[in-house]
Amino acid sequence: MTTTGPEIHGFQAETRELLDLMIHSLYTHREIFLRELISNSSDALDKRRFASLTDESLRQEEGEPAIRLERDPEARTLVIEDDGIGMTREEVVQNIGTIARSGTKAFRQELEKAKAESGEAAPELIGQFGVGFYSSFMVAEKVVLETRKAGTDEAVRWSSEGDGQFTLEAIEKERAGTRITLHLRPLPEEGEDGTQDGTQEDVQDFTDEWTLRGLVKRYSDFVAYPIQMDVERTEGEGDEAETVTKTETLNSMQPLWTRPRNEVEESEYHDFYRHLSHDWRDPLTTVHFKAEGTHEYTALLFVPEERPHDILDPAQNHSKLSLYVKRVFVMKECEDLLPSWMRFVRGLVDSNDLPLNVSRETLQHTRQMKQIQKRLVKKVLESLGKQLGDARRRYTRFWGSLGPVLKEGLFLDDDVRDELAGLCLFQSSAGAAPAALAPAAEDEDESVPEGPCPWGYTTLAEYVERMPLAQPAIYYVTGAARAAVERSPHIEAARAKGYEVLFFVDPVDEWVLQKLTSFGGKELKSLDRGEGLDEATDADHEADKEKHAELLTAAQESLDDYVKEVRLSKRLRSSPAVLVSGEGDLSPQMIASLKAAGHDVPEPKRVLELNPDHAVLDQLSALRGTDDQRFHLYLELLHGQALLAEGTPLPDPSRFARLVTELMAPGSLAGEEAPGPGAASEGAEGGDAAAGGESAEAGEGA
Ligand code: ADP
Repeated sequence: MTTTGPEIHGFQAETRELLDLMIHSLYTHREIFLRELISNSSDALDKRRFASLTDESLRQEEGEPAIRLERDPEARTLVIEDDGIGMTREEVVQNIGTIARSGTKAFRQELEKAKAESGEAAPELIGQFGVGFYSSFMVAEKVVLETRKAGTDEAVRWSSEGDGQFTLEAIEKERAGTRITLHLRPLPEEGEDGTQDGTQEDVQDFTDEWTLRGLVKRYSDFVAYPIQMDVERTEGEGDEAETVTKTETLNSMQPLWTRPRNEVEESEYHDFYRHLSHDWRDPLTTVHFKAEGTHEYTALLFVPEERPHDILDPAQNHSKLSLYVKRVFVMKECEDLLPSWMRFVRGLVDSNDLPLNVSRETLQHTRQMKQIQKRLVKKVLESLGKQLGDARRRYTRFWGSLGPVLKEGLFLDDDVRDELAGLCLFQSSAGAAPAALAPAAEDEDESVPEGPCPWGYTTLAEYVERMPLAQPAIYYVTGAARAAVERSPHIEAARAKGYEVLFFVDPVDEWVLQKLTSFGGKELKSLDRGEGLDEATDADHEADKEKHAELLTAAQESLDDYVKEVRLSKRLRSSPAVLVSGEGDLSPQMIASLKAAGHDVPEPKRVLELNPDHAVLDQLSALRGTDDQRFHLYLELLHGQALLAEGTPLPDPSRFARLVTELMAPGSLAGEEAPGPGAASEGAEGGDAAAGGESAEAGEGA
């Protein structure tokens, strides 16, 4: 045993800030500190039980593994002690002195968001950020943690007053496990309201037997280990009466998922979800079923209404379900239970036929896991389908937050694509832009508003239902933002015909569309690629083509450095020109996102389509074949304007500005080469900013 004296350490700056937040800004529901500490103890007991399967020496020294509460109203202390795995000195410094998993910044943002939404801080957020332990500082002015790791002899005492530093010292500790002593803040004097910011709150005495009983029942009833407390009871009557101390177990310990569904109250499911997820809201849906037959297991799954904060963290890109075997916890975040695109689902699977010592490696190769996964996916999708039908507003909120994750499945999972596509919501020209939806109040009317696209979104099935008989396909445009695609020239003809257009403006949509090519027997067709609207080429169009053949050739020559073809358009009504990609080409957004990710992507040249009915075409026709440089000037402007109209940045904005000036005051371009063939340098199309017409060669006819 080392005999070094106490060492004083400073908290990491982030931790200090967090503690400050904890003490000063989280003023309601302080009681949840108890749930957090019990939850940590329960995790530590799980870990020890699991580790002792392979290492006998880690077994409990004596008695049953338990969590013990000790209260002392005189001294105003509350102790939470467990027989769990414990921590080494290094682990204490690692786990308790720093915030490992996520930062204070993310935490504060969530806190502010919650405050803005509901007007109050949501202390329940703390568990979600791996900072549950610190919640004890909401109620305690000093916290002492003593711990000994199972299988080792050295124990350590950590203590802090939450003031920026903590003390560490070596101690003797009889039992392995962790003991936390909270020196509670004094109860307010009579008449004070007991809060730091003047809001009303019932003053709770966390050394009171009934307060503690109530809290355990409320938040921790299903914890799988006994939560014990000594209570004093009077036995006998009259002169015989004597006060005896008894140890009582405060929780029922029955794992919720082992109970039949019809015997579990919704509120119990919700409490369990909060225990499991550290989310403070109710889940969107709960899936609880028992599979019998070849494989026997019980699953209890929850879909959150909003996305957990780590959902976009690539390191967290896996299933978050826990695996139990015959009610014994085996592993957290069992990767094989759900595909990555369902990583927002929380819950557990309790198998009756896997061996207790199953490893991650074996799981990866068992057919059984694949079958379980398939079934779980199906069940979750079914429950989402039900939500979509029954609670559209809540589902829309969920979609706004988790839709992009769910959509990854369209790309990744061939087996459920059709079913999943039916659950997707999209923006469309038939509805207004979606607004951020606040959580619905309890008594709020949940009825769905009349008309297409409730709250800004349509399903594919609803789209198909609205399609006019003559409409051959589902039409869409992709783009970086709704504002850009909504006014895009690409959709003019479709809108003029009364066809609804879907707006695919989520970055993940580009991937989705590579796999989602049809729905309900209708093809999905892009309006910004290929031929666009699939109409039989009519006689008028043929006549136009003939009439403008020479113009198109001359235009093509002039813009040769920018585009691969200049042709007449069938998709335009009011705009003079539009740029379109080839069927198989990457879209400008996809190219931009790949480039941003550091990929070297070749940029295919696109096609410039001109509107045969636009007066600009007459102008061009009149200028063609003359010496007038305005022919080239206009074409270059049209090309730039087509880029702007679809929201693609100009390759050389200052060149564009000078062209406009030239238009207003001819001669402004003097000294600079005039527009025309060769005016643009190589690969100028959507390319780097240096390109776009500063080449030294003079254009033809300059
Ligand atoms: P979280 O539990 O969300 O990870 P906490 O701040 O509550 O965040 O705890 C941080 C870490 O400290 C835990 O992940 C665990 O490793 C360790 N820890 C906390 N309490 C205990 C305990 N009673 N026994 C063993 N380890 C614990």
